[in-house]
Amino acid sequence: MVVVGGGPAGATTAALLAREGVRVRLYEREQFPRFHIGESLIPQTYWTLKRLDLLDKLRASRFVKKYSVQFISGDGKESQPFYFDKHNPHESSQTWQVLRSEFDAMMLDHARQQSVDVRCGDRVLDVRIDEGRASCVTVKNADGATETVDCDVVVDATGQTSLIARRLNLHVRDDVLRKGSVWTYYRGAYRDSGRDEGATIVARIQGEQGWFWYIPLHDDLVSVGAVGDFEKLFTPGATHEEIFHRQLSRCPGIERRLAPGTRANDYFATKDFSYTARQFAGDGWVLVGDAMGFLDPLYSSGVFLALKTGELAADAITSALDAGDTSAARLGAWEPMVRDGYGRMRELVCAFYEGFSFAKFLKRHPHYSDHVVSMLIGDIFRDDLDEMFDSMQTMRAEMMAPAADE
Ligand SMILES: Cc1cc2nc3c(=O)[nH]c(=O)nc-3n(C[C@H](O)[C@H](O)[C@H](O)COP(=O)(O)OP(=O)(O)OC[C@H]3O[C@@H](n4cnc5c(N)ncnc54)[C@H](O)[C@@H]3O)c2cc1C
Repeated sequence: MVVVGGGPAGATTAALLAREGVRVRLYEREQFPRFHIGESLIPQTYWTLKRLDLLDKLRASRFVKKYSVQFISGDGKESQPFYFDKHNPHESSQTWQVLRSEFDAMMLDHARQQSVDVRCGDRVLDVRIDEGRASCVTVKNADGATETVDCDVVVDATGQTSLIARRLNLHVRDDVLRKGSVWTYYRGAYRDSGRDEGATIVARIQGEQGWFWYIPLHDDLVSVGAVGDFEKLFTPGATHEEIFHRQLSRCPGIERRLAPGTRANDYFATKDFSYTARQFAGDGWVLVGDAMGFLDPLYSSGVFLALKTGELAADAITSALDAGDTSAARLGAWEPMVRDGYGRMRELVCAFYEGFSFAKFLKRHPHYSDHVVSMLIGDIFRDDLDEMFDSMQTMRAEMMAPAADE
C-alpha cells in the first residue's frame, strides 16, 4: 500500500490503515517540518483526531484554542461571535488554530508511531495506471535514485498537486469561485481576550466580493490574508505587498487590529484554488484531501475535509482488501456523501460572495440557526440540511445586496 503525500490527509489515511495491520509506505517530497497555509481548524475535526488518538497531543500543545468565528461587515461593524458550544455543549466545540508546520509534523510523527514507513524527501514522479488500474509508482528518492514500487492500492494525498486527477484529466476548476489570495503574518497585533482570543475573524472588504481572514496563532503571531476575485486582486504590475495593503485600506476592521503589530514574515500568494476531481477513486487508486478537491477557505473546511476523506478512504481500503476487491466502486463508495457535503458548503460560500445576509435570513427563519451553525462547525454530511437551502434560494433572489452585514 502506498500513500503519496504526508499532509493531514495522507497522514490520516496511512495511520488508520497501519492500525488495521496494513503495511503502508508513505512518500513525502519535503522534509518536515515544512510551511503550509491553512491554520484554522473547525470543530468537526475532533472526531477524526479522537479516532487517531491525537487529542491529548493537541491539548498539550501550544496551539491557540478556538471557540468561535466572528464576522465583520465592510464598514467595520462586528457581529456577535458564533460560539460553537452554544449549538453543541460538548468538548468537540472547542478546536484549535494551528501552525501547520507543527501540526503536520505532529500528525506525520504519529503515523510513524503507528508503524507507517514514512519516506521524507522522496518525490513520486508518476503513478502507473493501465486501463484504469493503478499498479505501481515511480519514485525519485532523496539521494537522487529512481525506483519503481508495486502496490495494490495508491492513495493520492498530494494536496493541490493532485497528481492522479491531473494526470487523468479529472481535475475540474470551479469557474464561479475564481479567487486568489495574498497573505502574511504579524506579531504584536491586537488580540481579543479570554475565550475570544482564538476566534477566527472573517471581515468583508468594502465594495468588493472579497474578505480578510484573521487567525491568532501562538507566539503572538497572527495569520492574515485577503481573498478576492483573482483578476481584480492581482492587478498588473502590483507586488503582493501593494495588493495586501490596498485591500487592507478597504477593510477597517482588520486594519485597526494590525495597527499595533509588525509584519513577521514574507507575503505569500495563491490563485485559482477551488476545484474538484471528476472521480474520487478508480481501480486501485483513491484521492483524499486537496488531491480530491478544494473549496474556497472562507469556512476553513480544508483540513477537516482532508481528515474526513482520509478516514473514509482508509475504511474503504480496509474492507476492499478484506474482500479482495480493490475496484473503484469499493474504494470510492463514500464519494456521493462527500460530494453532497462539499456541495452544501459550496452553496454557503457562493451565497457569502453574492452578499447574502445570514443575519437577515435568520431573522426571517430563526429555526435555521442550528442548520447554519452545523455548517460552520463542519457537520455537513446531513441530508436534513437541504431544506434550508431551498429557503435560502428564495431569499438570495430577493437580497443580493452588495454590502449586506453579517
Ligand atoms: C489561502 C488558503 C487558506 C486556507 N486556510 C485554511 C484554513 O484556515 N483552515 C483549513 O482547514 N484549511 C485551509 N486551507 C486549506 C488547507 O491548506 C488544505 O485543505 C489542507 O492543507 C489539505 O491537506 P492535504 O493533506 O490534502 O494536502 P497538503 O497539506 O497540501 O499536503 C500534501 C503533501 O503532499 C506532498 N506532495 C505533493 N506532491 C508530491 C509528490 N509528487 N510526491 C511526494 N509528496 C508530494 C506535499 O509536499 C505536501 O506535504 C487554506 C488554503 C488556502 C489556499
